[in-house]
Amino acid sequence: MAGNSGFSVRFWGVRGSYPTPGPSTVRYGGNTPCVEVEAGGHTIILDAGTGIIPLGRHLMRRSRELAKPVEAVLLLSHLHHDHTQGFPFFSPAFVPSARLHIFGPDFLNSSPKVTLDTVMNPPYFPLRLAELNAWLSFATLRDPDLLAIGESVGGVALGSVGDPALQNDPDLVRVRVLRSYAHPNGVLHYRIDWRGQSVVYATDTEGYVNGDQRLAKFAQGADLLIHDAQYTDEHYLGLAPGLPTTQGYGHSTVSIAVQAARAAGAHRLALFHLAPEYDDDQLDSIAGQVEQVFPGAFIAREGLQIDLLDPPGEVKLMEAARLHAGA
Ligand SMILES: [Zn+2]
Ligand SMILES: [Zn+2]
Repeated sequence: MAGNSGFSVRFWGVRGSYPTPGPSTVRYGGNTPCVEVEAGGHTIILDAGTGIIPLGRHLMRRSRELAKPVEAVLLLSHLHHDHTQGFPFFSPAFVPSARLHIFGPDFLNSSPKVTLDTVMNPPYFPLRLAELNAWLSFATLRDPDLLAIGESVGGVALGSVGDPALQNDPDLVRVRVLRSYAHPNGVLHYRIDWRGQSVVYATDTEGYVNGDQRLAKFAQGADLLIHDAQYTDEHYLGLAPGLPTTQGYGHSTVSIAVQAARAAGAHRLALFHLAPEYDDDQLDSIAGQVEQVFPGAFIAREGLQIDLLDPPGEVKLMEAARLHAGA
């Protein structure tokens, strides 16, 4: 686990659209999107797909071990079901000592609070959002907001990119936001910077001709780019037997993700939001192909942890031994 000097990324859910439990998906995992980032001792959670459920148990276990309440920033890329469906089962939300700072977009007049209020409500769910015991804060984010996390700003502060008060302290974790139009109803991409290292989370996006130029600028030089790569090119183009073309669905192919990583000059690329139709063997074969065209590319899978402070260019992948321990 990262201490105050660490910057690590761990995948808890990598599957797009809907969960895919079962024997053919055990190696990559079947949970919907959730990524944990530890930076400078702060916990940032990207999306609340079903992967946030085992993450919640992990955070509770760590809280007991350290005798320290759970505190986390939850960043929602957008409010589609596969990015919020784990939240009602996120155990820290039920604990009075926990503090959760929740951020996301306000597309179509549906903020994170309105969305979670709607799904956590009888008869859809037995508990209402208002009945959760944790301290919860909600705020909406807009491009070009800047979120700063650290002691010098009193925990979590929301400002703008040009705000000098949020620029001076090198220990601050900084989160920037890019509003993308490449997904139905829109999506937010996030860039997290700490002490000269960076990770960019760009899920649920369908690339453009010659790459998404706004994303390329936003993700410039990222140490790790986590990018939507839901489909193979054959599937996307309608050439895979029994599968319809998926052009216009708002998701990328493996080669679109590689183009995005090249355009941004990213050092490492995690292929993410994997098609629920693909089993472990298919993903293995995609992994073999992508390593040939982009060294540093890999397929995200549950339990994979990456330490961003490792030397540039080095791809060191560790299994999180306790991913499902005590689940
Ligand atoms: Zn999605
Ligand atoms: Zn979506």
